[in-house]
Amino acid sequence: REHAEISLKDIDQIAKSSFPLCMRHLFEKLREDHHLKHGGRMQLGLFLKGVGLKLDDALAFWRAEFSRKVGAERFDKEYAYGIRHNYGKEGKRTDYTPYSCQKIISSAPGVGDHHGCPYRHFSEENLRAALTRMGVGNRALEDVIDRVRNRHYQLACTLTFEAVHSSSCDAGVNHPNQYYNESQRIFES
Ligand code: SF4
Repeated sequence: REHAEISLKDIDQIAKSSFPLCMRHLFEKLREDHHLKHGGRMQLGLFLKGVGLKLDDALAFWRAEFSRKVGAERFDKEYAYGIRHNYGKEGKRTDYTPYSCQKIISSAPGVGDHHGCPYRHFSEENLRAALTRMGVGNRALEDVIDRVRNRHYQLACTLTFEAVHSSSCDAGVNHPNQYYNESQRIFES
């Protein structure tokens, strides 16, 4: 599938309107802390690549944030490689694919990590707060929490999608980039 390219100046707006909660969370934490640990850099970095962020823009994006924390020089030395690597420009030159929901849900974020699936890895309190910030109303929110309690994390994400887009998602959510594509399709129509 061909992806439209996205431009850096639109990225905050697009994150708000079309990123699933796992990626919104990483995106917000990166903006807040100007840093993400390895698992977060992989999960968000490959997602952004799938969304259509070009390598040069990806480098500029990560560099702008990390520079504020570790300095531009250290970014260039220690972190730029990983981003080029994700785009198949280093090492084995594999063109890495973005992570599926299944992979993200089965990951095991440790202390200080922000990757993973919020439906699986957040406390109920934090999940409720995050969903409220996304604009999920009371009734839908209880439905989402109900799915989470039954460990149906992707269904919970699907219900969230439907609540924030006021539109059905018949296929269900199985990949963060699929969530993004379905969302964009709605906003473009
Ligand atoms: Fe992300 Fe998938 Fe979890 Fe939704 S269900 S938050 S897209 S990992």
